[in-house]
Amino acid sequence: TEVSPHRGRFAPSPTGELHFGSLVAAVGSFLDAKSRHGEWLVRIEDLDPPRVMAGAADAILRTLEALDLHWDGAVMYQSRRGDAYREALDQLQCQDALYPCNCSRREIADSALGSSSSLVYPGYCRNGMRPGRTRHALRVRTDDVLIQFHDRLLGHRSQRLAAETGDFVLRRADGFYAYQLAVVVDDAEQGISDIVRGADILDSTPRQIYLQKLLGLTTPSYLHLPVAVNVQGEKLSKQNLASAVEADVPLPLLFKVLEFLGQDPPREMLQGELTSFWSWAIAHWSVEKIPALPTMMQINRQ
Ligand code: GLU
Repeated sequence: TEVSPHRGRFAPSPTGELHFGSLVAAVGSFLDAKSRHGEWLVRIEDLDPPRVMAGAADAILRTLEALDLHWDGAVMYQSRRGDAYREALDQLQCQDALYPCNCSRREIADSALGSSSSLVYPGYCRNGMRPGRTRHALRVRTDDVLIQFHDRLLGHRSQRLAAETGDFVLRRADGFYAYQLAVVVDDAEQGISDIVRGADILDSTPRQIYLQKLLGLTTPSYLHLPVAVNVQGEKLSKQNLASAVEADVPLPLLFKVLEFLGQDPPREMLQGELTSFWSWAIAHWSVEKIPALPTMMQINRQ
């Protein structure tokens, strides 16, 4: 029997240029795929137009090219995938898995169980919406089943959605599709077998597995990488203005990423060629060496 090829992906949101944190996810997913002779795809998650920065998607792609991170196949853009998301929602609608919700953010915050950082929707609109407001989101019903999965680095994980997130939004009141839906539909469309991404998304994985089950899709394997934080202990993101990586001097930058991932690159590589750097990194990629705990690590400002 033929073994299906490994296929990984890097799925940046073009809300700013590539920063160290997203480069860690790019390099980790690339090495994981290439070390197993797999393919590595890129998907631009431009799903949320108000947050997209003009020119950022192209800037990210140019940076990947400058670093010799060459992707397989065509780049997928979520902004062009509306039909696929609508179809998935139709399928869920037929299963009676969705319901409209016109609760305001405020009403949810006031009534929600759990802390403000992780609001659990208490299910108000399950039995019908509040009168008067027509704009509404679409939520998927969760049940009390424990979602379990194995993370290749962090081990066994589990979450009970009903208690920890509640019914979650798949289409927002402003009409845009939610990340949780898009990522599941697109990972399936792109045939992704192995997801490698930052541990900042770890909490979303059970919701994605739940949607995969409802939609009859295969669940890929998961590996969540340590998250790079700044000196204040905050995740590096465009929001806290993490600086864009300097791709014009690739080797010191990529060396730092490999060190961050615990791969112990030999110092001589700083003097070598980019191609020999990648050959070494692919040949020596070792998931066991990635620091799993703590998942938050501090890196020096570059
Ligand atoms: N677009 C997400 C981000 O940039 C990543 C999504 C994923 O890897 O599933 O944070």
